[in-house]
Amino acid sequence: MQDEFDLIILGAGCAGLSLAMALAKAGKACPRTLILEARSSYQNDRSWCFWANADSAVLPQHQWPQLRLMAGDKSVRIDSSKRPYQMLKAENFYARAQALIKASENITLRLGEAITSEPQKNNRHWQVQTAAGQVSAPLLVDTRSMLKPTLGGAVLWQSFYGLEIECEQSVFDTSCVDLMNFLPADSTQVEFVYVLPLSATRALIELTVFGQEPLLPIALTQQLDAALLARCGAAKFQVIRREHGILPMGLKPTAQGLDASRVQVGVMAGAARPSTGYAFRRIERWAAECARALLDVSGPKLVGHTPDPLIIRLMDKLFLQVLKAEPQCGAALFMSMFGKAKPERLIRFLSGEARFTDCLAVIAACPYLPFLRALSRLVIARPKP
Ligand SMILES: Cc1cc2nc3c(=O)[nH]c(=O)nc-3n(C[C@H](O)[C@H](O)[C@H](O)COP(=O)(O)OP(=O)(O)OC[C@H]3O[C@@H](n4cnc5c(N)ncnc54)[C@H](O)[C@@H]3O)c2cc1C
Repeated sequence: MQDEFDLIILGAGCAGLSLAMALAKAGKACPRTLILEARSSYQNDRSWCFWANADSAVLPQHQWPQLRLMAGDKSVRIDSSKRPYQMLKAENFYARAQALIKASENITLRLGEAITSEPQKNNRHWQVQTAAGQVSAPLLVDTRSMLKPTLGGAVLWQSFYGLEIECEQSVFDTSCVDLMNFLPADSTQVEFVYVLPLSATRALIELTVFGQEPLLPIALTQQLDAALLARCGAAKFQVIRREHGILPMGLKPTAQGLDASRVQVGVMAGAARPSTGYAFRRIERWAAECARALLDVSGPKLVGHTPDPLIIRLMDKLFLQVLKAEPQCGAALFMSMFGKAKPERLIRFLSGEARFTDCLAVIAACPYLPFLRALSRLVIARPKP
């Protein structure tokens, strides 16, 4: 078995496979790449949602022209038909990636090969140990989630637990996603139900919490059951699959780039947008950028996730401060933002493509008092020189 490569990617989830797909496009110019993945097979373990754009490598399975937010008896519906909200099934993404890797002469994916010890650099090469032996390469992309969700590990955690269900009767409106159906205000966390209608009888229904503590499914089950009952009423349903996730909202900056031959990427290394947790498009963008740098004629280089522009970082920081200090304002904040800002501006903002004027429009659409209070708290908390 070959054990020397130009590049080793640790982990073949969304980030590892996205980079492999971007590199596969280079044909013979693609570096000799090995991807090591702990899982021995892929399941349909998640669905990725995002707003449509032209340059995605994979085709989504569903899309919706409208989005709705609800809080008590208030409701806001926005038309997103110009940039529909789309869903990609993980099983389709994994299958597409595996097909491209199989067709590439230079990329090898080894499933069921977990990395068993920290990679060591020796003589300009990274030595990576798995149960099957040692492999090495001068460049290493690490997509494993090194950061474990713990209290204080992120400003907030987004925890969600959902069921894809098939009902015996028609229950769902297939034209509209319920992006956030807020539960009554809570002084410790923001809670809402997310409904992706896949047909009139099938939907993914998720209970989501933005809070300081990362939550396991057990902590979300009771409210999810209540949401299912509220949504489906007496209609009987069958559970098709379950998904659970814990995403960081606002990570502390880490010491990246100490060694340019190794990069840490993925959802726990800056891929997730702090204020929303959306990561898929950001990972796609990073993968395209990293593949370009690896194929650079002046020599291969690695890149990590590019920090957001300053205005976005400041807005996300303030936003998270508001949600952390005044979670009871969460529903009003999102309702106001979606009710007042133009959909195209909002979608660019949420997708990480905001222009300066989009940021100003989103700021103007938010209730300003909680933000002023958050700003004053940040200023007071700033370490003195
Ligand atoms: C259920 C769920 C739904 C989500 N929905 C959305 C969404 O709708 N929109 C959106 O933008 N984002 C979404 N996200 C966030 C984000 O897009 C995903 O988490 C995405 O999969 C992150 O990609 P990643 O490569 O960082 O991590 P992963 O996809 O988890 O990949 C990491 C890989 O590393 C492997 N690995 C770990 N340790 C080892 C080891 N020691 N040896 C070898 N391999 C190892 C793992 O098995 C895994 O395959 C969702 C996340 C979850 C969990």
